[in-house]
Amino acid sequence: MSEKPIYVTQPFLPPLEEFIPYLEKIWDNKILTNGGPMHQQLEQALCDYLGVEHVALFNNGTIALLTALQALRVTGEVITTPYSFVATAHSLLWNGIKPIFVDIDPNTLNLDPKKVEAAITPQTTAIMPVHCYGNPCDVEAIQRIADNYNLRIIYDAAHAFGVKDAGGSVLRHGDLSVLSFHATKVFNTFEGGAIICPDAKTKKRIEQLKNFGFVDEVTVVAPGINGKMSEVNAAFGLLQLQHMEQAFARRESIASAYRQGLEGVPGVSVVADAGQTVSNYSYFPILIEPDYPLGRDELYEKMKCSNVFARRYFYPLISEFPMYRGMKSAQRENLPVASKISEKVLCLPIYPALEDDAVQKIISIIKAA
Ligand SMILES: *Cc1c(COP(=O)(O)O)cnc(C)c1O
Repeated sequence: MSEKPIYVTQPFLPPLEEFIPYLEKIWDNKILTNGGPMHQQLEQALCDYLGVEHVALFNNGTIALLTALQALRVTGEVITTPYSFVATAHSLLWNGIKPIFVDIDPNTLNLDPKKVEAAITPQTTAIMPVHCYGNPCDVEAIQRIADNYNLRIIYDAAHAFGVKDAGGSVLRHGDLSVLSFHATKVFNTFEGGAIICPDAKTKKRIEQLKNFGFVDEVTVVAPGINGKMSEVNAAFGLLQLQHMEQAFARRESIASAYRQGLEGVPGVSVVADAGQTVSNYSYFPILIEPDYPLGRDELYEKMKCSNVFARRYFYPLISEFPMYRGMKSAQRENLPVASKISEKVLCLPIYPALEDDAVQKIISIIKAA
């Protein structure tokens, strides 16, 4: 077959000719980075678009996570989920912090607040939950625990761009939230990320940390890093922001076609939303149950043979990688739900340019087994 491969995602690219005026502007300005005009405009535009107070842009989501931990001076042990992209726990290790893995809730696939308390020790200083697939965590239960034990909360919100609950943006919860604008995410700047923070003082500290710790030409107040987003990346974000409503609408219609097409297929269940009022349709995870005729990996291989490249997000669990698996909290007995889900999950292709006949083809492959 010579059909084009269908990947789990495809970067969202507005028409090239629309980007040229932004580049011309950068050439006129002759400012390429260090908080130039595009950077300033994108921070403001994102505050308005997302409905949050302060946004600090970064060159990627992982550096933003590292910096968020530094900004709050997090040390010791941090409670987190094994069911995420590996950067979540890596950001802890890079800060010399010990990740403590806690199991996930079988419905939301997010950190299970009921299991958090038992993992708290005198060394625990923070919780780093993930709004997995853009499904909000149980933010109230997590906040109650943090208040009781005097812990900070940093949300890895890499999947949660544009997601809202009844009170507004999910990014307002916790002490800080971190976004990723990587090419594969719903909103991208090629590479990029951001920290959402509630107050100007914290934003100021974050701005120092992302620029080597400089506060002025001759004063360095912290061992900072280079986390700055360039003007070209910021300009691309400004352009992309103009197209988000269209992109979300297309994602929503793909998600609804999948739901309809897969309804009643024995052994296939769709992961439910977790109470958000606005979703971003960033992923379309399904679970392959024991009564499906094929195993999850067999279906994954079968789809590949038809040039459809679904992904097993998140398999393996973070806790199974070599730098984590020796830890006590990484043992499978401690993580029964996450272990089981990671063996059943398959994320189906979803992105604005995915065509209806491709969606139908994917549904037929799943149904044909
Ligand atoms: C993508 C992602 C990151 C890392 O973001 P980058 O911008 O690629 O560095 C971190 N956490 C989660 C959950 C992600 O999906």
